[in-house]
Amino acid sequence: MSIETLARKAVRELTPYQSARRLGGNGDVWLNANEYPTAPQFELTAQTLNRYPECQPAQVIARYAAYAGVSPQQVLVSRGADESIELLIRAFCEPGKDAVLFCPPTYGMYQVSAETFGVECRTVLAKTDWQLDLAAINANLTNVRLIYVCSPNNPTGNLIHPDDLRSLLASVNGQAIVAIDEAYIEFCPQASLVNWLADYPNLVVLRTLSKAFALAGLRCGFTLANQEVINLLLKVIAPYPLATPVADIAAQALSPSGIDAMRQRVSEIITNRTWLQQQLAQCHCVEQVFASESNYLLVRFKPSSQAFAQLWQQGIILRDQHKQPGLQHCLRITIGTRAECQRVIDALNLLPNA
Ligand SMILES: *Cc1c(COP(=O)(O)O)cnc(C)c1O
Repeated sequence: MSIETLARKAVRELTPYQSARRLGGNGDVWLNANEYPTAPQFELTAQTLNRYPECQPAQVIARYAAYAGVSPQQVLVSRGADESIELLIRAFCEPGKDAVLFCPPTYGMYQVSAETFGVECRTVLAKTDWQLDLAAINANLTNVRLIYVCSPNNPTGNLIHPDDLRSLLASVNGQAIVAIDEAYIEFCPQASLVNWLADYPNLVVLRTLSKAFALAGLRCGFTLANQEVINLLLKVIAPYPLATPVADIAAQALSPSGIDAMRQRVSEIITNRTWLQQQLAQCHCVEQVFASESNYLLVRFKPSSQAFAQLWQQGIILRDQHKQPGLQHCLRITIGTRAECQRVIDALNLLPNA
């Protein structure tokens, strides 16, 4: 008997998340994972590695609460936003009975986490403008306990209309949790829904240090919600989710100077995004550049261009979105340094004019 047959059915059938790292590639321009292009410097100050860390390091919680404008009781810190996606499923969904709902094209981990736990994925395609199809969502709510909405949406870059989110929150109140994934909210901070926590007990907001805070390698994310929700998540989280050095560096990143540095990075990335958007619009191989509120651009290429493979061979690694519904011939390009953006444009301009 093979070991494979010992595994749970859900795991045997699982396609793991195709992270940028897993997909590989051999490049010197990495624009496929929405990371910040250069590394901020930190020094470890915590030396007590003989001791277990705090489950919820108080200084990190206090600083994130102040930064986000909520109370510390409304904050949970975890191993990246990816862990909080999973904690929500573990706390709110009964395997084989309940369902999670999300609206492709969107972030891939909602599906992977649900499938790992044997929880049904109910998908309702976004409309052609990538807004929520509220009528279709409302018609598909049976057994749905958890709804993920990514805003700004990865990979399309658009914000979800706040009026639609209000009506979604109101229509499922008492029946399902609505988790708004704000992984990219620092690039459009005015659009955050944190101020709605007072109005909606079923609202959850997901955040991360991986994008604008330039700390994808740290693995640190946050869940903002009302205390009742946070207390449930605390029941299912690991006893020591954050290593001592992680909490140490997260606290530094959330100091006043750390937050200033983040805001400077955001404005530099937005400047580069505007530049790249204008340049892409003039490339003969580009069909459409979509508006973006984030640190990446979604671009539709002419079908003949083979831009992904051509740039890959030159060491410029982008993210192919061709297989997502509605995103035929689309690539997602992370905004890098100006020099990296220039490399993309130079390479595209050299593609044969088909
Ligand atoms: C990057 C990303 C995450 C994961 O963030 P981590 O904190 O690195 O786990 C979650 N949601 C979306 C939409 C993302 O793009």
